[in-house]
Amino acid sequence: MPAGPVAAKIRTSLLCLAICDALGGPAEFQPRGSFPLITSMQANRNFRLPPGAWTDDTSMTLLLIDSLSSTRTFSEADQAARYLRWLTTGYLSVTGVCFDAGNATRMAVGIWASGGGLDDVRKALDKKACCGNGSLMRVLAVALVFWAEAAETGCELARRSSAVTHPHRVCQEACALYVLLVSTILRCAAARTSVTKADLLQLLRDWEYETTELGAIFGVENWIDKEEIDIQSTGYVVYSLEAALWVFFGTDSFVEGAVKVVNLGDDADTVGAIYGGIAGAWYGGGDAFWEGKAKEWKEDLLKCDVVEAFAEKVVRIAT
Ligand SMILES: [Mg+2]
Repeated sequence: MPAGPVAAKIRTSLLCLAICDALGGPAEFQPRGSFPLITSMQANRNFRLPPGAWTDDTSMTLLLIDSLSSTRTFSEADQAARYLRWLTTGYLSVTGVCFDAGNATRMAVGIWASGGGLDDVRKALDKKACCGNGSLMRVLAVALVFWAEAAETGCELARRSSAVTHPHRVCQEACALYVLLVSTILRCAAARTSVTKADLLQLLRDWEYETTELGAIFGVENWIDKEEIDIQSTGYVVYSLEAALWVFFGTDSFVEGAVKVVNLGDDADTVGAIYGGIAGAWYGGGDAFWEGKAKEWKEDLLKCDVVEAFAEKVVRIAT
């Protein structure tokens, strides 16, 4: 793992989530191989956005940070209230208007808005058909805020953050796995303990899987040797996590992975965002990070100052 202080890794992680979200946005809904290679920020015709515009993935991550940093506690009801504010007023949308929100998220927030709570969300949405990546796309916030806690605590809060809109245990476990990886990177950086990608893969193998869906992928030796054709970058939470981590473990630089991940197409912005969060934490922190393509993408990111301001909120409460 490249060396660097935790605060710099947190800043880089959040920025890279937004960058890969914006980079992948134009490829969202496009089949792999059906569009010219993306290596720079392009207009997003899906939502008529200019180049560099981030989407719901970044908005939801900022909203979760907003809740965690404002309340200084963990309140599912407060998180849902902020998602509602985004859906109804465009709060923390890059355009000022909400777009790209997932179906499960809309349904769950509607339940909260009409006085429901976790039990009601569970009754309505605890099913396989509601295993999209809506909670995984934002859970980086939990990793960045609670990285210094015990790993079990971070994983439990990841599960709780998922249950606000995505209560199925597959969604919850995917969020826990992601937070385990990112928080491990930050804890090792803080302790100046060396950790390799092989160590992170071992963590995934050693995890006691609750769900066969995730265990059948990440509990298996050499899963990262899969061919690209066997990697689906869809909105199913299991495949989104697999695609993002397959790219992270199979590439050697942030830029190489970012180009690879967004060009997988399909749910390219969200898979990109999931990749960007962990890759930014891994590679970030050194002086040399913001050079070349990474520098260009950051300069082209719309409302970069908003993302940076939220990174500072995290740094203030978490370092
Ligand atoms: Mg999106």
